[in-house]
Amino acid sequence: MTHEVVVVGAGVGGLTTAALLAARGLDVCVLEREPDGGGCATTFARFGYEFETTAGLYAGWGAGDIHARVFSELPVAPPEARRLAPAYVVRLPDATEVRVGAGDESENSVGEFEEELRRAFPECAPAALDFYRELTPIGEALHRAARRTPALATLSKFGRMKLMAAEARHASRVLALQTHTAAEHLAATSTRFRRFIDAQLQIYAGCASDECAYPYAAVALNLPRRGLYALRGGASALARALTDSIKLSGGRVRFDTTALRLAFDADGRVAGVDLLSGETVRATRAVVSNLTVWDTYGKLVGASRTPGHLRARLKSARGWGAYVLYLGADDAAVRRLSADRLIVLDSWQEGETYDATRAQFMFSASPAWDAARAPTGKRAVTVSLYTDAADWFAYHTDESEHETQDQQMLETCWARLHAALPELGAGVEVIETATPRTFYEQTRRKLGMTGGIPQTLANTGTGNAFTHRTPFPNLYTVGDTVFPGNGLAAVTQSALIAADEIAPGK
Ligand SMILES: Cc1cc2nc3c(=O)[nH]c(=O)nc-3n(C[C@H](O)[C@H](O)[C@H](O)COP(=O)(O)OP(=O)(O)OC[C@H]3O[C@@H](n4cnc5c(N)ncnc54)[C@H](O)[C@@H]3O)c2cc1C
Repeated sequence: MTHEVVVVGAGVGGLTTAALLAARGLDVCVLEREPDGGGCATTFARFGYEFETTAGLYAGWGAGDIHARVFSELPVAPPEARRLAPAYVVRLPDATEVRVGAGDESENSVGEFEEELRRAFPECAPAALDFYRELTPIGEALHRAARRTPALATLSKFGRMKLMAAEARHASRVLALQTHTAAEHLAATSTRFRRFIDAQLQIYAGCASDECAYPYAAVALNLPRRGLYALRGGASALARALTDSIKLSGGRVRFDTTALRLAFDADGRVAGVDLLSGETVRATRAVVSNLTVWDTYGKLVGASRTPGHLRARLKSARGWGAYVLYLGADDAAVRRLSADRLIVLDSWQEGETYDATRAQFMFSASPAWDAARAPTGKRAVTVSLYTDAADWFAYHTDESEHETQDQQMLETCWARLHAALPELGAGVEVIETATPRTFYEQTRRKLGMTGGIPQTLANTGTGNAFTHRTPFPNLYTVGDTVFPGNGLAAVTQSALIAADEIAPGK
């Protein structure tokens, strides 16, 4: 088989790239080892529930945002996205709650959020307000820049100058802040406020304020203000729409098809993909890998063809593991909470380096308006926690050791859940759990690491971030381990960047 473009992996990154290229008239084929698309963002059914693996909080669904831009080119309608208000509530260990993303971008909403901050953090209210007032215009400027030029991390010198001219008011400030961490701007705030920020940055950036690059923090903490959305049917609805789009545009999606490695021609150019079945799928124009950067180089390219400096960077970059509880919950129990989605901080860790594995978890219930996701009177709930992925791959003599580790983790998480959210009472039951090994089995991501690469100073910005480009001119990478990072909106942006480089849209 020969195609112009072969895409390995039908996660949201691979599917979006393929949908765009197929709509632009290219002959595209997607190879996916699972029987369905969606990867980490798959929804799965158990006992009448449809669980999202994710927290079900999606950015970029507003007018003119990344998803509208992509779907404007596709021959299918996007899934229904509804703005969440509040986007989420952050509950602190002293039971203080902060509503985040409760309004829109109007002055009134900004005023309400500032009032919320004054009420929740009286000990440092002026400094907390200053933090957001300084960060918001920077986040907005970077958002506008990414809309104008999605491939910010690989811009030419000329492209950068053009962008700086367009953002003349903020450009020099943004440049000056490139080497700052978020923590450098939190010095005048209390531990309580810093932990409120840490818990959110951990979700968006995979690291707390002491490590998170300030420009990334500015974009991330602006997301709830710009709007976070839920998708009817969960993220699988997005994967299905993209798959339909590829097919309608004449492309091909081959499920249950595992890529083994890349095929190279005699000049060392990527010529296609060797499958586990022994078949070679040839690509005349480009191959796109939707695998993580670790797996793109470790499995598809191979260590012998990966330049040494890249091998060293891949070795030093580490992602997180996720431990997830899928719960069936009484609708009444969820309604006793102040929101359907809560970031719960259950330990201050005063004077310690922030350890997300012991400090926080995310509670997310399917929206009441998405009734098909749960039996009558129930909600599908996903509770996710951070864990060290490598811990789950320590040597096990037999499978029962993994089960024991899973059971111990479940007991700890169950106790933390009930201690932090006593309103749930007996209204929740465990339906299923997922460990990094489960994620590995479902997606083959190295060590089951999810959520991209932490957005530390060392991993972000021009020259530091992994991008869609590789040392091979016709091999591209898309997904949450390359610029701009974690989450479906970012993954979609990475797909648009790669598609534009392979075959620019009109
Ligand atoms: C617990 C949790 C909560 C999250 N919450 C949110 C949220 O609320 N909002 C949000 O926007 N994001 C969230 N995310 C992040 C989001 O799910 C991911 O960033 C995104 O789905 C990653 O997509 P991807 O395309 O990069 O890769 P993946 O989803 O990993 O897709 C890669 C695909 O490649 C396939 N593949 C692998 N190896 C091969 C091979 N050899 N041959 C063929 N196919 C192969 C895999 O099966 C998979 O389908 C969450 C993630 C987790 C883990």
